[in-house]
Amino acid sequence: MTHKVLVLGAGYAGLVAAKRLARQVRGDEVSVTLVTAFPDFVERPRLHQLATGQAIERVPVARYLRKTSVGLVVGSVVGIDLGKRTVTTVPDGESRVMPYDTLVYALGSNIDVAGVPGVATHAWSLVGTDVAAQVCARLRVLARRKGRVAVCGGGLTGIEIAAEVAECFPALQVTLVSGARPGAWLSPKAQAYLTRTFGALGVTVRTGARVQEVHADELALDDGDRVPFDLCLWAGGFRVPALARVSGLAVTSQDRARVDGTLESVSHPGVYVIGDAAAVTGAWGSELAMGCRSGGFTGPTAADVIAARLTGREPRRFRYRYVHECISLGRRHGLIQFLNADQSPKPVVLTGRKAIAYKNATLNGAKTLFRHPGPALVRRRHLTSETGMAHTGRAQA
Ligand SMILES: Cc1cc2nc3c(=O)[nH]c(=O)nc-3n(C[C@H](O)[C@H](O)[C@H](O)COP(=O)(O)OP(=O)(O)OC[C@H]3O[C@@H](n4cnc5c(N)ncnc54)[C@H](O)[C@@H]3O)c2cc1C
Repeated sequence: MTHKVLVLGAGYAGLVAAKRLARQVRGDEVSVTLVTAFPDFVERPRLHQLATGQAIERVPVARYLRKTSVGLVVGSVVGIDLGKRTVTTVPDGESRVMPYDTLVYALGSNIDVAGVPGVATHAWSLVGTDVAAQVCARLRVLARRKGRVAVCGGGLTGIEIAAEVAECFPALQVTLVSGARPGAWLSPKAQAYLTRTFGALGVTVRTGARVQEVHADELALDDGDRVPFDLCLWAGGFRVPALARVSGLAVTSQDRARVDGTLESVSHPGVYVIGDAAAVTGAWGSELAMGCRSGGFTGPTAADVIAARLTGREPRRFRYRYVHECISLGRRHGLIQFLNADQSPKPVVLTGRKAIAYKNATLNGAKTLFRHPGPALVRRRHLTSETGMAHTGRAQA
């Protein structure tokens, strides 16, 4: 009997976790299967490029899995039974129940469209490649008549979308709407650069009021003001799917799963949660922000922890610190904010095209990690029946 590991989600966290784990165990003893909704890897940090008419690389997940023992199931996960240890998926429209001994939950997050009335009906959010392509078609039409685009959300996603749209469609009137000043947490030097760049790109920044409701052609702000638009792009924060909570995993108020220092669920041993879906406390005391980096670092750790436990070794605990925040402002301007260990911004920033090159290198680095997930030196150890079974037993307890 093989020990079955199911990895849910082929994003920044899940893809690396599956490949790296498979490299450390023996295929005849441990099977690793990756379950994911779409056949292609979705490079979410480049969706705003797709939405503005730029080509982005599409890589099938299957290509990343070539020459590995990882099995692939393309289908939506619709249910998890933590008691019976099964996952229900819908590949090819037919429901399929898959048993597991160890589960890695890496279903990520998406833009929150439920928090403010009218967003789901009247606004667009870059939640996937199809939507990005539809937004692009609309922006093209709108640009011909010098239309108005409202981008809601002064976080990094909103900042990047506003800049990209303004640069690619200079005829459009782009307004970035945000309760707080966009990038208020950045160093003074970075904030000054951001302000200059928005000025150069013609982005109007409207701050000091939050969006109360999105109507068909205008935003209603909580100070009573209205912002008319022809197209509204919503970037008001990320939200993880409810599936973890609904399944019974212990979660935070934001529905991120609570995990210990080995990324194992605090409520369900044998279930590991990584990437945006996990509430992982960083060394500085607060939760890791949702971002590719958290996925790129929690994925390898979870793989190593599971491999260690299955083969009778002591796992290493998750350790990580952010060193930078990479922000693209179109293709000509960018901003790299370097960070202190406590996450406060250093006075040092990198700007302009060098910053764009830096950010591209970082995003491409993630894809290099998909191809070569490590560890560099591999010793495929035997499953220790005692620890393998004990692990399974803990999951049942
Ligand atoms: C427009 C935009 C710009 C961004 N820019 C940046 C940036 O510059 N830097 C940065 O660090 N982060 C950025 N992010 C955030 C970043 O993309 C995410 O934080 C990151 O992708 C999270 O990685 P993950 O592996 O946890 O989840 P994801 O990458 O979201 O992967 C989740 C996987 O699970 C699959 N999945 C989800 N639900 C199901 C289901 N029910 N059944 C089966 N499969 C499912 C998905 O298809 C996907 O394969 C951006 C996001 C957006 C939308």
